[in-house]
Amino acid sequence: METFELFDLHDALFRAAKANKISLDMSEHEGKVEGLPFNLTFVVKNKKAQIKCPRCGSTDTARYIYGYPAFSEEMQKKLDEGKWILGGCCISSADVKGVPVQTMPSRHCNKCKKDFASAPILITSKKDLAEDYRDIVTSIKFSVGGFFEGNTEVTISKNDEGAVVKVMQFPYGIEAPNDRQITHAKWNKIVNTLYGQLYLHEWKKEFVDPCVLDGTQWGLDIKLTNRRVRHYCGSNDYPPYWSELKKIFREFAKL
Ligand SMILES: [Zn+2]
Repeated sequence: METFELFDLHDALFRAAKANKISLDMSEHEGKVEGLPFNLTFVVKNKKAQIKCPRCGSTDTARYIYGYPAFSEEMQKKLDEGKWILGGCCISSADVKGVPVQTMPSRHCNKCKKDFASAPILITSKKDLAEDYRDIVTSIKFSVGGFFEGNTEVTISKNDEGAVVKVMQFPYGIEAPNDRQITHAKWNKIVNTLYGQLYLHEWKKEFVDPCVLDGTQWGLDIKLTNRRVRHYCGSNDYPPYWSELKKIFREFAKL
């Protein structure tokens, strides 16, 4: 192969990796004359595989290992690197519609030291009831905007056929010409993304940067069965999963 062909190959490799959200770390090549892209190693970083803490946004997070795992050097390495953390052998669970569901966190944040990624289970101790958030959400309203650009509001309400999506633009009051009906599968996907991938049940409720006036305000209002609600809002400050959150609604409105 000619050198220029190798560069073409390098270029194609990087483009393919980027398309799959994989970044190739070339830092080992730095300062090396022989550091042509094809004869030194890359460190492959899969951004998708790096799970972000819903509280502080750090991707330096460890996976909980429960029970008594057999000790190995590989395991010790992962523990030392902060990739794994031992959770002990006591595994608590809750009965959700007759099925026992583990309620332990599955990850630990090495930065803010908090646990996260537990199953989205709402336990009402008074009634001794455990419910999965994904079963009890009835409506999701996301709004975002500012003084100058106006406000966009997307409301997705569960109905018999799946859910109906309503888009409103303020202050102009322009409503999308038709409410859009989505399927059960689509509704389930949205709710699963919110609770299973974005860990909404573990978010703090308010994000405010007091140093900025005006700017962007946003709100996320979740309605649950039995008139229960969950409000999340922010002013010029955003949750770690902000871009992932907007992505859910971008399908229905320009955000
Ligand atoms: Zn954290």
